[in-house]
Amino acid sequence: MNLVALIFIGVAVLFIIGIKFLSSPKTARYGNLIAAAGMIIAFFALHKGTGESVWTQGWSFNYTLIVIAIVLGLIAGAVGAYMVKMTAMPQMVALFNGLGGGAAALVASLEFNRGAGGLEPVAASITVPMLFATVIGSLSFAGSIIAYLKLEGKFEKPHTFPGQNFLNGLILLVILGLCGWLTINAVGGNALRGFIVLFVLALFFGVAMVMPIGGADMPVVISLLNSFTGLAVAADGFAINNLAMIVAGTLVGSSGTLLTLLMCRAMNRPVTNVLFGAFGSAGGSKAASGGVAGTVKPIQADEAALLLAYAQRVVVVPGYGMAVAQAQHQVRELSDELGKRGVEVQFAIHPVAGRMPGHMNVLLAEANVPYDQLIEMEQINPSMDRVDVCLVIGANDVVNPAAREEKTSPIYGMPIIEADRCKCTIVMKRSMAAGFAGIENLLFYKDNTRMLFGDAKASLNALIAAVKAN
Ligand code: NDP
Repeated sequence: MNLVALIFIGVAVLFIIGIKFLSSPKTARYGNLIAAAGMIIAFFALHKGTGESVWTQGWSFNYTLIVIAIVLGLIAGAVGAYMVKMTAMPQMVALFNGLGGGAAALVASLEFNRGAGGLEPVAASITVPMLFATVIGSLSFAGSIIAYLKLEGKFEKPHTFPGQNFLNGLILLVILGLCGWLTINAVGGNALRGFIVLFVLALFFGVAMVMPIGGADMPVVISLLNSFTGLAVAADGFAINNLAMIVAGTLVGSSGTLLTLLMCRAMNRPVTNVLFGAFGSAGGSKAASGGVAGTVKPIQADEAALLLAYAQRVVVVPGYGMAVAQAQHQVRELSDELGKRGVEVQFAIHPVAGRMPGHMNVLLAEANVPYDQLIEMEQINPSMDRVDVCLVIGANDVVNPAAREEKTSPIYGMPIIEADRCKCTIVMKRSMAAGFAGIENLLFYKDNTRMLFGDAKASLNALIAAVKAN
């Protein structure tokens, strides 16, 4: 076994440790650094995996190009990460993922081009992964760009037309047919022309696949496309005989698939429903059509502060609105203030609260909320009836009892944080507007619910001042 292969095994171990560390907010930062270190080592160890590397070959022009690309990528990534707002994080992930898919497709295209220009027939064991990486990588690139635009609010609604699935199926068949033909005819001018048609069709298929899906489902789509990008990179690794790409691509592919399945499970919807259900095109809730029993009962900050200050146990349910208001520091301050008064404060975390997995954990960690105060939905739900005050901050769908009570609701069956079972629930939001799923929330009309209207940050500041004054 040569030195480069040994280094690649070390790199694979670093990637796996990195992912392991990412599974807890306490160690996530180190996880990122460890995986990034693995990636840097992989860059310098590689040279088509043939055993040649910067150590065995010495410095070459290729390495200069690699270093320039790394520096440019580092600058773009760092500037992007610092500039992007927390609420726009899903868009950034969509763009980065799309670029990864595009890069994987370009690597495979370059290899195909090289093979097609030669005289020798190219072995199917190399052509097949190249074609796979081209199709999946360009599909992921085009799909991610559409997902990005949908998240930015452009053509958010599902775009469907009669016969769409048939047309998509037909394009897929042509793609598969072309792949079959190119596998046995990988050399010469016709192969190149066929390859270009394949590339364009794959891009078009990426657009056609994502356009019918509503903006609401984009985070799931991005996670799925992320797994596609991983698979394309792994296929590149097979085509150019690069172990690090095979390992990194497989890890991304499998973790992206797992994340997609976990998100779908948290919403209680099969992946097929996300891809073909055009979710968000119509509201199906009784509440949406105005048939909700009960009345909305507003509350002022002073009164809400009294309830909180004299409670024994308070549970905070953060949601997307907390991210929009950037109110995480105020949440922490209120929690500290209540803690000083002997109130037990916990945070109930729903797996899909916000707009990306772990959204609430990241925000609360940024505000230094102790990890042991963050309780997962399954753990906290059984004791919700023993909570004196549940403070819902900018969460909506993830506390909507329609998921349990209303069979016709689009979110029926989705596990929720059972805020409606608490002795008293205070919901902080600006208006009666619907959340992500576009449906009304039965919780807002329950007898034990009070609505504290206003921007979450402003309301929290008022609550903190009122608690301090009590
Ligand atoms: P929702 O989108 O259901 O609701 C957010 C609420 O925040 C809105 O009703 C809005 O009401 C309120 N809000 C917005 N801005 C402010 C502000 N400045 N101050 C106070 N309130 C504000 O959020 P949830 O977190 O409850 O649910 C997440 C949704 O996203 C779920 O439907 C989930 O399935 C979906 N989703 C999540 C993914 C993830 O990975 N996390 C992935 C895919 C989908 P108002 O305008 O009246 O203020």
